[in-house]
Amino acid sequence: MNASGSQPDIVFDCPHCGKSLVIDRRGAGMRIRCPECNGTVAVPQPDYQGMSALELRLHELEDALQDRKRELSELSEELNYVSQRRAHLERLRARSLKCFDRIDRELSAMEQAIQRMRSALLDAGFSPAGGDPDAPPEAE
Ligand SMILES: [Zn+2]
Repeated sequence: MNASGSQPDIVFDCPHCGKSLVIDRRGAGMRIRCPECNGTVAVPQPDYQGMSALELRLHELEDALQDRKRELSELSEELNYVSQRRAHLERLRARSLKCFDRIDRELSAMEQAIQRMRSALLDAGFSPAGGDPDAPPEAE
């Protein structure tokens, strides 16, 4: 970075009198005289440590953000899976209901066949075993 004009100034305290001093960033490392106590003061280097601590924190936050994003995408994958599973189960249920429907229809067809056989036997003079003689004949 070479844009020294936009660089922030260096702020530091005079080690002799504690006066807060502000100097242009380009003065880093120079020896100056404190305007307050006239003591010789070495201008410190800019606060790179503070900067890198901030950058470190920024990286930590970015990592945490990535973690959250990964968790979020895992969650949405899971949601996707669960939704698909649910749709599958609903299809199965619909198929089962259709199956039950067919079984119902077959059962009632068998029931009608039994009724017909029973009345045919009755017509022929047989008393069918296990049948209910009081059952009303099915209307066709
Ligand atoms: Zn001073």
